[in-house]
Amino acid sequence: MRETKLVSAPRSPWLRAAAGPILAPMPLKLIVGPPNSGRTGVVLDGFRGVADRDPVLVVPTVDDVERFEEELTRDGGAVIGGAVGTFDQLFTLVGRATDAPAGPGLSRTQRRRLARETVGRVNLKLLGPSSAKPGFPAALEELLSELQATLIDPATLRRRAADAGVYEAEIAALYEAYVVIRDGLGHHDDHSLAAATTSALRSRPDSWGSRPVFLYGFDDLTLEQLELIRELARVCPVSVALPWEDREILTAARGALFAELRDVEGVAIERLEPQPRFTASGTLFELERRFGEPDERDPVENDGGVALLASAGDLAEVEAVGAEVARLLSDGIPAGEIAIVLRDPRSSGPLYRRVLTRFGIPVAVQADLPATRTNTGAGLIALLQAAVGRGRASDLLTYLRTPGVAPPSKVDWFERRLLRGRIRTTDEALDAWSPKGDNGDDGLREVRKLRSAKPGAELLREAGRQARWIAESAIRREGAVAGEDRALELRAGAEIEKALIELAELGLPTSAGDVIAAVSDLDVPMWRGPTEGRVRVISPYRARARRVGHMFVCSMQDGDFPRRDTGGPLLSDDARQALALPERKRAEIEDRYLFSVCLSRPKQRLWLSWRSADDEGGATSRSPFVDELRELLAPELPADLEERDDAIVAEAGGRGLAESVFDPGSAPSEVELARAKAAIGPRTEDGRLKPGPLQLEPVLERMQEIKLFGPSTLEEYAVCPYRWFIGHELKPQPLGPEAEPLTSGQIAHKVLEALYEDPPAPTGRPTPETLGEWRRRAMELISEKGAERLPRELVDTAAALRRVEGLVLAFLADEARTATAFTPAHTEAAFGFSDTEKGPLPLPSGGVHGQIDRIDLGPNGEALVQDYKSGGKVDGGAGMLEKRGKLQLQLYMLAARELWGHELAGGVYRPLGGTGDRTPKGLLRKELAEDLSGLDPRPKDHLEDEAFDEALDAAREKAEEIVTSVQAGRVIRDPIGGSCPDWCSFQPICRRERGFPEEEPWSEESEDE
Ligand code: SF4
Repeated sequence: MRETKLVSAPRSPWLRAAAGPILAPMPLKLIVGPPNSGRTGVVLDGFRGVADRDPVLVVPTVDDVERFEEELTRDGGAVIGGAVGTFDQLFTLVGRATDAPAGPGLSRTQRRRLARETVGRVNLKLLGPSSAKPGFPAALEELLSELQATLIDPATLRRRAADAGVYEAEIAALYEAYVVIRDGLGHHDDHSLAAATTSALRSRPDSWGSRPVFLYGFDDLTLEQLELIRELARVCPVSVALPWEDREILTAARGALFAELRDVEGVAIERLEPQPRFTASGTLFELERRFGEPDERDPVENDGGVALLASAGDLAEVEAVGAEVARLLSDGIPAGEIAIVLRDPRSSGPLYRRVLTRFGIPVAVQADLPATRTNTGAGLIALLQAAVGRGRASDLLTYLRTPGVAPPSKVDWFERRLLRGRIRTTDEALDAWSPKGDNGDDGLREVRKLRSAKPGAELLREAGRQARWIAESAIRREGAVAGEDRALELRAGAEIEKALIELAELGLPTSAGDVIAAVSDLDVPMWRGPTEGRVRVISPYRARARRVGHMFVCSMQDGDFPRRDTGGPLLSDDARQALALPERKRAEIEDRYLFSVCLSRPKQRLWLSWRSADDEGGATSRSPFVDELRELLAPELPADLEERDDAIVAEAGGRGLAESVFDPGSAPSEVELARAKAAIGPRTEDGRLKPGPLQLEPVLERMQEIKLFGPSTLEEYAVCPYRWFIGHELKPQPLGPEAEPLTSGQIAHKVLEALYEDPPAPTGRPTPETLGEWRRRAMELISEKGAERLPRELVDTAAALRRVEGLVLAFLADEARTATAFTPAHTEAAFGFSDTEKGPLPLPSGGVHGQIDRIDLGPNGEALVQDYKSGGKVDGGAGMLEKRGKLQLQLYMLAARELWGHELAGGVYRPLGGTGDRTPKGLLRKELAEDLSGLDPRPKDHLEDEAFDEALDAAREKAEEIVTSVQAGRVIRDPIGGSCPDWCSFQPICRRERGFPEEEPWSEESEDE
């Protein structure tokens, strides 16, 4: 509580009367009146009037302390005396005067830790499952605090709970255990200190002297606070200004406090009337008077005191509000005269802070942020998890990604190593980050320090030091966090360290899990310090004590404001009744009252802002309060609901989902103006930034040198030339390991190659009789070849190996069922490579190289080319080249004929995947249909010899066309059939618009030709 210099001012008659000696019971003075009735002036006059008696003014928040000090020292004539402070400070002041036991009491963090300890020491049955949940200690701490503030002692609660039921008895047991632990540790909390203070005042009433006490801005007091006020009223003049009159909204929400105080012996009540002179807008004055009351009068003309904003999406709403605030500031309205009210500033406050800061608006969001939403808090938890918690590599990665901790490019490579090496534990990851012996430093210093700290106080203090180090890292590394976030991160580091030191001082046993839970439960204030010169983002509760020129009440959504009533977290309404506890505040009554408070706070204009759609364009409902208020205004709304809705939306300003930039005339900052101008400025010339054919001479020369192509390369180009270019020339590397189906398919290929190369039975292929031997050998080969690439000790790769087993065994079973005279003659028949016996399949401009999975020969020596495919679907038939660019099988058949000199029976793709139909598909000579019938191919894959040869020639021609195109540098975005396949993931690189394909530069070129 601060001593204040006061200005001399005329005294009100009441105050003159109250300033007498303290010999008899003092009257309690209630100054009641609705908003805009001048309660502030009466309280200030009263305070000034008794300045010579050291008065005390109690207000709700530290902000209000600043404001009232300003008010009291505004115009000269200063005198020494008086104090302004919060209720906690009043308790301290009285405690000091009465020599009551002194604080500091347990902090909230310490109380939560005690609540955790309490849960562990009570045998809970009904509450057992929920007590294991992470949020339980925090909810319990709140309930215990409420019980204490309600002045119920543990023994009384236990007595009441005995009649109420088992659940209530468990709550009572928790309460009792909490007090036992607290007292056992020799600590006080704010409530025990408050009780001791009130009791000391009761036993030594003259110790307070005659200092008058004033309360302003409170519409609600706990029983604990009321008790102190009652005791003070016995010894000194106490004046309480209450926002109350006999109106439904005020009585329903805050009537209880008035009723309590009204019954104090000797109370004097001064009733004030509302006065329009306190509000510049007559509309706002009228609306505040009429809202929530039965009203048959004509609607109120809007003199500009009320404005509506309807936007689409969270960001659009904040931008719309930000633009209006920027306009007010540029019109010369001081920032301190603007407030933004959110029912829950904790959840959307960070977005307001980010957007308003982007617009260059000085802002103070007066709400707490969970520490886990700061870089520092999230980074510390990840570090603790990695070092002394669950010890996952991913935790270490998260920690290293904390801005400022490590160079991002180094962490990128580290992540790649983790993923590719399938590294799971912190220890393995530490080795990958900094191998042992590397610069004499193994692992990370911070991990070592945490691991070497003993559980308990030492670990808590070390974790605190790490929090500060992480917060400061963000500042040390230039650009790691945006300028406006630096103070928040430093605050987070300091708050976390302070809280962990407080926990260390408690002296309770503390595991690594307790430290992590404690950090997870912490909050960090988004703003600290004076708010002068800043637009404040506040809750309706904070809005109560202070008026502003302009107020924006935002996020007016049904369910947000008013909130949905979800009941109390630990005690149902029935349980409260059974325990004779005060009733819980109903969301509808409380929020209606808070909204009415918002109506009374602005002097010039009130903006009501809501979202008519979410970020995906789905409709959202606005708060019923908006409609209720609008109904009080002229012109009258249509009776039809839809027309009514249209009329409200038509009146509202705001921003839509499609408005990604402002009009230049309404841009709220220089940056936004630049974006607005860019949006309407001249476009970049079409095609300049589009990828097109290769043009650089050295590159074209390099392309011309490419002579040999694999069939899959040719197919890639046939599907889309740009896809080929990305895949084969740019070669983007995936961050993680190779896609598992690809690895499984490769292993299956290797196993089949080895099996058919050296068959386990003389027939050369499985039969029903030899299938068992083939399966046994296949399993051996899978263990041998598979475990190298997919280690069995890891759960997911073990599952992948099982899939390989499934693929191979199902294939062998298919083979055994197939009655055919064709037997394997060549496996993995390679051609066209430097180390192969066979040369390439020649083309006019180059050649083809490749490796045929298998060539079987029929009774008369005709070759059946087989190609294994890992998937469950394969292509076949004469149209596969034109429709899907498939030419591998045809080129392999040409190689079998021209390089190995075999007559052809045909070629088939053999699907390895799929659970049902695994029919081979491809191109087969109809003439040999009978010999091939055992394969059970599709009839449409059989071609007459002429058509068969034409299909092979078409593939050769297509291959030649692709080879010459590649050599000419024709790298263009030209997907087969004109549309990109869904599975092509290269769009971020080629940037082809999938929805509305753009005109390609090469298409004009070909038209010219
Ligand atoms: S997204 Fe389309 S244009 Fe781009 S590479 Fe893939 S197939 Fe080609």
